[in-house]
Amino acid sequence: MQFKVPNTKNWQKLKKIVKSNRCVICCYRLYKTAIYVWDKEEKDCTHVKCFNCLSVYDKDFELTDVGLPRQTGEA
Ligand SMILES: [Zn+2]
Repeated sequence: MQFKVPNTKNWQKLKKIVKSNRCVICCYRLYKTAIYVWDKEEKDCTHVKCFNCLSVYDKDFELTDVGLPRQTGEA
């Protein structure tokens, strides 16, 4: 299932990031784990979130929220 995203500049940028980068926290490929974060106020996609570790990146691939790397043998 895909939700419809307006074709904004932000979204284009995020799409590129997702296509070509790995999550720096958990090293998963973002195209497998990323979800686009919709900003209600800006009415735009402003961030992507790696659902594996819950890290959040902005459109310049800056980490804005650090997630937890999922590891085996967690305490
Ligand atoms: Zn991650």
